[in-house]
Amino acid sequence: MSSWRDHMPRGMSLKSEGFASDLYDPERRFTLRHYCTEKGLPYNDVGAPIPLETFSSYGLEFQRRMVPELETTLVTHVSRAPEGFCIITAKGERVLTSVVVVATGIAHFDYIPAELAAAARKS
Ligand SMILES: Cc1cc2nc3c(=O)[nH]c(=O)nc-3n(C[C@H](O)[C@H](O)[C@H](O)COP(=O)(O)OP(=O)(O)OC[C@H]3O[C@@H](n4cnc5c(N)ncnc54)[C@H](O)[C@@H]3O)c2cc1C
Repeated sequence: MSSWRDHMPRGMSLKSEGFASDLYDPERRFTLRHYCTEKGLPYNDVGAPIPLETFSSYGLEFQRRMVPELETTLVTHVSRAPEGFCIITAKGERVLTSVVVVATGIAHFDYIPAELAAAARKS
């Protein structure tokens, strides 16, 4: 959730409605509605914008429940190795693996064309 927690403006709300903001769970055991009900947070399928803070905390709780083995580590280098791939982390660890899934989000691709830079500074 670091894109949401660290790169989005405080106070913003999601564009998508509540019913369209669930994280994928085939059995629908932990939808946004479930989370808000558990925490006593306001929720409506439509017409009640979801605050960034609610969505971020839902995402982190979803991860804790569904993928508890997750390790949060910055990967700085990926290269081919005879066994598959060699990964180097910011801590200097080297990991050999047969599979790599790259899902780094959009934060690294931040670019504002010069023509729009002045408008971006004003907002
Ligand atoms: C302003 C904005 C509003 C949006 N509003 C909505 C909405 O209302 N409803 C909706 O459904 N969608 C919305 N989206 C889109 C949706 O949030 C994104 O499509 C979704 O978060 C993408 O998920 P992701 O896992 O691909 O990437 P991200 O959520 O960006 O996650 C990528 C993760 O990879 C990590 N990472 C990056 N580089 C490395 C590295 N080298 N090593 C280790 N980890 C790394 C990052 O820290 C991050 O945690 C919005 C997006 C934006 C920007």
